[in-house]
Amino acid sequence: MGVLVLNSLSQFLRDYPGMSTAPCSDAGVCLRGKFRFKADVSGNDEIDDSYKLEIVVPDKFPQALPKVKETGGKIPRDGNFHVNQDGTLCLGSPLRLLRKVHSAPNLPGFADKCLVPYLYAVSYKLMHGGDFVFGELAHGDQGIVDDYSVMLGLKERPQVTQAIQLLGIKKRIANKRPCPCGCGKRLGACPFHHKLNEFRKMAPVSWFKAHALNDRNRI
Ligand SMILES: [Zn+2]
Ligand SMILES: [Zn+2]
Repeated sequence: MGVLVLNSLSQFLRDYPGMSTAPCSDAGVCLRGKFRFKADVSGNDEIDDSYKLEIVVPDKFPQALPKVKETGGKIPRDGNFHVNQDGTLCLGSPLRLLRKVHSAPNLPGFADKCLVPYLYAVSYKLMHGGDFVFGELAHGDQGIVDDYSVMLGLKERPQVTQAIQLLGIKKRIANKRPCPCGCGKRLGACPFHHKLNEFRKMAPVSWFKAHALNDRNRI
């Protein structure tokens, strides 16, 4: 078990007393039980609700992200509710989640910044219908590209794909490649490389390689 996971586990269990550790087949920590939260978002109602969850926290957390499943059958299993085909909850685009987790790299931080906002939006949608309350992204590939485009400040999908590909190779080599911002220079000669380096601090090259975007599904 990673030191960071261990250090923040007891705090998480105090914050969410309905949850407890459970046997886990994957390397990491498995948490199961009733996840009760109370949250409000400015301008919207306070919501006090609970979901039965199974959270698998990988050993490499926070450089790898936890996987969360809802086991109580309360969340409709479809893209409208951001549930992936394998039953895991789509808490946001991988890069967005990575950045959130990086800003508070422990389990209570993950719960607070990634999980509760998602569950709040689900509860709100179950009660009132309509879209997710946090500016909804499309579920799936296009939503991810749209989100990355905002985070990276790049307009076109090929630019976004190229930027993520550059994060998936070593900095020294990436800096010799053409910059995705459209400046016509190599990456190392453009200030855009600072933006990519911010993300490099959050995860190893292998993480970005594993999250490379597929250009074939271009819409
Ligand atoms: Zn989604
Ligand atoms: Zn550039």
